Amino acid sequence: MNIAIYPGSFDPFTNGHLDILNRACAVFDEVVVLVAINSSKNTFFSLQERVECLKKVLADHPKVKVDSYEGLTVDYAKKVGAKHIIRGLRAVTDFEYEFQLASANRFASPGIDMVFFMASAENSFVSSSVVKELYRNGADISPLVPSEVLKAFTSKK
Ligand code: ADP
Repeated sequence: MNIAIYPGSFDPFTNGHLDILNRACAVFDEVVVLVAINSSKNTFFSLQERVECLKKVLADHPKVKVDSYEGLTVDYAKKVGAKHIIRGLRAVTDFEYEFQLASANRFASPGIDMVFFMASAENSFVSSSVVKELYRNGADISPLVPSEVLKAFTSKK
């Protein structure tokens, strides 16, 4: 079975993430959406909130599993027998960071490759930070996130 890992903070999961995930599902047999546990990052949603929300959003995606992990994604990939890590690319600014990350992963684990999908035009400006900034300032974020994510925002006070 051809398994891929899609790691990220997903704080929150946006339609941009969903687009990348759906396209990855067309290529791989199983995709694990891996919520990174990064204690140095201050997140808006707790790890538990993000995982629970993702499980609801992706309940009708038979190829997708949701999990969380503290440590290197490549180590998680080895644990589950995955050979590919999915990432998304928006502007050139993403490239530098992703290139460094890909090189670090290759250094740590040469047998695992990164696979990149380019953002679709309508999602190219969508990031978790932009969504949070718009929400804080009272904008309607419903076109940018799955409905379960919108619910998570409105139920969080
Ligand atoms: P991280 O904190 O690891 O960067 P994110 O949750 O911000 O995690 O993003 C996970 C991955 O999804 C990254 O590769 C990021 O570039 C990609 N991504 C985020 N938003 C979009 C988008 N709108 N279109 C395409 N890829 C995206």
